[in-house]
Amino acid sequence: MGTIKVEEKFCPKNHSCPTVRMCPAGAISQKSPYSAPEIDYSKCTNCGLCTQSCYAFVSK
Ligand code: SF4
Repeated sequence: MGTIKVEEKFCPKNHSCPTVRMCPAGAISQKSPYSAPEIDYSKCTNCGLCTQSCYAFVSK
């Protein structure tokens, strides 16, 4: 499995990102509802859950 990335062009940046609460590792954060989520790679375990819930998250 590759590294999880946020494809900003697929994020509408107009709501609180549900994956922030969903990530089991607490690796996703969002500065504001109008910004794309960010991944903390020191926490991400590459589980892939975020890629199943939002198409802005891709495994590369
Ligand atoms: S792959 Fe898993 S651990 Fe990494 S950011 Fe997505 S949900 Fe969190």
